[in-house]
Amino acid sequence: MSIDDPTSIWVVANKLRQLTPPTYVPSDLVETPVPHLNPPTLRKEAADAMVAMFAAGKVEGAGGMQLQSAYRSYSVQVKVYNGYVASAGKAGADSQSARPGFSEHQTGLAADISSLPLTCALQACFGQTPQGMWLAANAYRFGFLLRYPADKTPVTGYIYEPWHFRYIGIPLATEMHTTGVTTLEEFFGLPAAPDYAP
Ligand SMILES: [Zn+2]
Repeated sequence: MSIDDPTSIWVVANKLRQLTPPTYVPSDLVETPVPHLNPPTLRKEAADAMVAMFAAGKVEGAGGMQLQSAYRSYSVQVKVYNGYVASAGKAGADSQSARPGFSEHQTGLAADISSLPLTCALQACFGQTPQGMWLAANAYRFGFLLRYPADKTPVTGYIYEPWHFRYIGIPLATEMHTTGVTTLEEFFGLPAAPDYAP
């Protein structure tokens, strides 16, 4: 499976790896039938896995969860990023938002998850909630990866985001869990991507 093809569930997008083409739109987007804030749009395979994961979390005692943010198109990312540039400048924007074409959310395979009722939504302390702890330990069973671990900012280019999960399929997620390799960059032997190319 390809890490370059944006249609591959193994595609690696980071600050050194813009999607090709940058305006890529997945062809199999669906609305995920789970509680949500923003449109719960994901690729079909990721949506099905998300439904199963939310259900298992409830059954296994983690509590309720909500999809905060899922697919974001190139044009939406342009608006979000430019909004940050206007208020915080380019450096400020880069610390808070991915540039258009560089966001995992554009693959339709990434999701920001919060607890229900909302506790520490999109904050580091989400990692200490029952939902955050359960997800960190169990997301791999459903094919998801905690994409931005606390100790890997120099590798991923992103601060700890215990709410951001990336669908990579159960076989790869299980292999990463088993081997203890926590980033796609390290697993695939890619260069660290702490920042955009100058
Ligand atoms: Zn995210």
